[in-house]
Amino acid sequence: MTHVFHRNPRAELPVAARGEGPYIYDTSGKQYLDASGGAAVSCLGHSNSSVAKAMKQQIDGISFSHSGFFTNQPMEDLADFLVKRAPANLDRVYFVSGGSEAVEAALKLARQYFLEKGETSRTRFISRRQSYHGNTIGALAAGGNQWRREPYAPLLMSVPLISPCYEYREKKNGETEWDFGQRVAGELETALLDTGPENVCAFICEPVVGATMGAVPAVKGYFKRIREICDQYGVLFIADEVMCGMGRTGSLYAVEQEDVAPDILVTAKGLGAGYQPIGAMLVSEGIFTTIVNGSGFFQHGHTYMGHPVACAAALAVQHYIEDNDLLSSVRHRGAQLAEALTSRLGNNPFVGDIRGRGLFQGIELVADRMTKEPLDPSLKIHAKIKSAAMAAGLMCYPMGGTIDGQRGDHILLAPPFIINDGHIEEIVDKLGTVIDEIVGSLP
Ligand code: PLP
Repeated sequence: MTHVFHRNPRAELPVAARGEGPYIYDTSGKQYLDASGGAAVSCLGHSNSSVAKAMKQQIDGISFSHSGFFTNQPMEDLADFLVKRAPANLDRVYFVSGGSEAVEAALKLARQYFLEKGETSRTRFISRRQSYHGNTIGALAAGGNQWRREPYAPLLMSVPLISPCYEYREKKNGETEWDFGQRVAGELETALLDTGPENVCAFICEPVVGATMGAVPAVKGYFKRIREICDQYGVLFIADEVMCGMGRTGSLYAVEQEDVAPDILVTAKGLGAGYQPIGAMLVSEGIFTTIVNGSGFFQHGHTYMGHPVACAAALAVQHYIEDNDLLSSVRHRGAQLAEALTSRLGNNPFVGDIRGRGLFQGIELVADRMTKEPLDPSLKIHAKIKSAAMAAGLMCYPMGGTIDGQRGDHILLAPPFIINDGHIEEIVDKLGTVIDEIVGSLP
């Protein structure tokens, strides 16, 4: 009997024993191809020896020093690395232990920034439907995933939600891609005017949506319009790159491909690639100096922020990616994966859409391709796909209930940046067989 309170206590989980490249092995020796990087985390695969070496070296030096007493070299070096490659306005980094912590920090910083500027009525945030920003109370409130919010709704601050830039479902017949992007971005202005712009701190969204929609990038021009609206009303733009950042979409920061700079950017998963828990908040100089010249203190923090071993691991991960030009691999392998998925699954009557960017690909399943009617949620197709894939030795990340809190099944793929031709073939073969088997039994 286990004494662990597993998130899903009824599930019988295999015991992970070791990892090698893109594979995980359980204690029985069974091999699993990690095609989702866990949840878009393990971007280097498993057992990378240069990361392990950097961590060991750091532990042999100093394994922990509280950030209220000391800075540490890996934290300084990692901040330097991230800032040198970030949009030009972002030049300070605040380290935490994961994505939700990074989002909480961003929400609180936005509020404190306006307080210090004397704009005290700014307390509200605006976000999008079908978004996810983390599971802590503030981050959960900021997200639009109804299923995750529902049990805690009475505890959550109220956040106006606008439409996501979700071309497959939101673009009207006959509307151009450009007009669609401008229309849905324009909803931000409407929400701002409804809420009173003087009451709003920030708009938060994922540049490429991950967990709730399965790798959905915005259309061209959307983020430029979002930036314009934020500037017009003096509202901060927070880019949540917890899942899509750190190279996952083919550029270190996903916003690079949108040609806009947010005021705050949060990132986590791929930053430490799972070797250590770490998240980061990148902040514009304007926000930073407002705090420095105001109260001089950001009134928020956690015990493990700037953990030296976590920072050393993340720095080694990021150097490895750069030294081995893995962002080119992400672009090249991403295109190859998208093409292979389309050729294997593109004609499947239950596959409505295959989309994504880089090694961040999503497959949306539907009951009817013409009407885009989602599958019956009681069938729990996403859960069946996950179990069948695990039985076949494949890790993928299927989700359900993402459209209106009840319906909508999709599968997210986020394999390590080191995958080769053989791994892509294995992902597509196994996933194709699993989907055929599960949806093949539908009427
Ligand atoms: N933001 C986004 C976009 C995410 O995808 C996630 C996790 O999936 C989070 C925040 C929360 O991150 P964490 O699970 O590390 O707290």
